[in-house]
Amino acid sequence: MFIRSRPIRWILVTSAASLIGIPFASPAQAASHKAPFDCGKTFFANNWSPGHNPSGSIDWQSTATDAINGENVRATAGGTARFHDAGSTSYGKWVEITHSDGTRTRYAHMSSMVRAAGQSMSVSQGTKIGVVGSTGGASGPHLHYEQRTTSGAMDTSPTVDGVTVSLGQRKAVTSSNTCGGSNPYTPEEVCGSGYSVIDSAALGTNTSAKSPLSRHCVFQSQLSPQPPATSKGCRLVRFNLANW
Ligand SMILES: [Zn+2]
Repeated sequence: MFIRSRPIRWILVTSAASLIGIPFASPAQAASHKAPFDCGKTFFANNWSPGHNPSGSIDWQSTATDAINGENVRATAGGTARFHDAGSTSYGKWVEITHSDGTRTRYAHMSSMVRAAGQSMSVSQGTKIGVVGSTGGASGPHLHYEQRTTSGAMDTSPTVDGVTVSLGQRKAVTSSNTCGGSNPYTPEEVCGSGYSVIDSAALGTNTSAKSPLSRHCVFQSQLSPQPPATSKGCRLVRFNLANW
């Protein structure tokens, strides 16, 4: 997975707001959804049209750098999760979360769930509810995801992590879910151009001696030499693969 034949410069980018004391923004809406994956994971959101049932659903699929099969599935917003199993048909193993404002989200085709079918549990944004798979009518590993209104109607232009994916669109979305909670900035907002997200899986809760900071994402610099901190206060720390 990693290319070891040439030096790779790794940069640790911390949450700017946590370092320089920018006041955290209040959530814009009651049901503001983050992507249903671990912090920093990037996957394609496909809003197939026509031909997707129900229309307006999102199929999350792998990108070239992050394979989606076996990934943790996380609540995109808090609420009450109910667990279901349609067997080898339809959604397969699936979860519906009813959020505090009455809107709902659905997550389908999971290989496993954190509760048995028929059970329910209270979830926060980021709570793990299952694992990506290909159960039910899925032809390959992906996560089928829906946002529904209080009446149960489909929102055919769902927004996750600030990215709206309308009918017929396919967009790459980087998850900020479980990145630490209160930082209102995405890595792209903090670091601007000149960086590309590689992978920050499982680093959102890393409080090891490698860093005293608990909120960070790993980037590979596209610039040489290493660029200075941005005006938004990125703290850049050099690592090599051996450190990880
Ligand atoms: Zn689907």
